[in-house]
Amino acid sequence: MKSLGVRHVIGTCVVSSLRKEIEPGTFVVPNQFINFTWGRDDTFEVDHQLVHLPMAQPYCEQMQGIVNRELKTMGVSYRATGTVIVIQGPRFSTIAESKMFALWGGDVVNMTQYPECYFAHELGLCYGAVATVTDYDVGIPSAISMQAESIEIVLAIFRRNTSATVTLLEKLSVAAEEITKCNCATDRLAEYYKLANG
Ligand SMILES: [Zn+2]
Repeated sequence: MKSLGVRHVIGTCVVSSLRKEIEPGTFVVPNQFINFTWGRDDTFEVDHQLVHLPMAQPYCEQMQGIVNRELKTMGVSYRATGTVIVIQGPRFSTIAESKMFALWGGDVVNMTQYPECYFAHELGLCYGAVATVTDYDVGIPSAISMQAESIEIVLAIFRRNTSATVTLLEKLSVAAEEITKCNCATDRLAEYYKLANG
C-alpha cells in the first residue's frame, strides 16, 4: 500500500468483549492496544535504520474522531475509545486469561492490530481501526459466546456487524478528503528521523 502511494489506512476487525457493558453488536473505536503476540515480525527496519518510534497513541486521532462522528450518524451502539488485547491465537483464551485481560484494562480481545498498526507507523501511514463485537469472551458467562450451542446467535451478530461495517466504510469513503488531510504519521516519522540523525 505504501508503494502504491497510500497514506491513510482504516483496518476493520472482529473482537470479543471483555466487559459486560460492551454488548455484542457494539462498535468499538480502538485508541490503545496491549500486545500479547509473539514470533511475529516487529519491524521493517525502514531504510535499515533502527528508530525507536513512540507508540503512546498508536491510532490516528483524527481518523478516530471521524469514525466516531460517522458511527453517531448511523445510530448504532458504539464506544468512542477502547483497549484491544491482541492475543497470539489460533486458540482462544482460558477463563483465567480472559479475566486477567479485563483486570489489566482490556475492553475487547482479538488476534489482530499488532503488528499492522505499528508497521503503519514505521511507514508513515495514518492508521485507524474499527472493531465490531461478535460475542462475550469466556471471562464473562453468557449465552452469546464461542460455544457450539450459541454459534448461530454469534454468526447472526457477525453478519449484522459486517453489513453495518460496510455502511460505515461507505460513509468514510465520502469523508476521504477530510481523512487524508491528516499528516500525523508522516510528521511523527520525520520528527524521529531528525532526532535519530542528531
Ligand atoms: Zn493521522
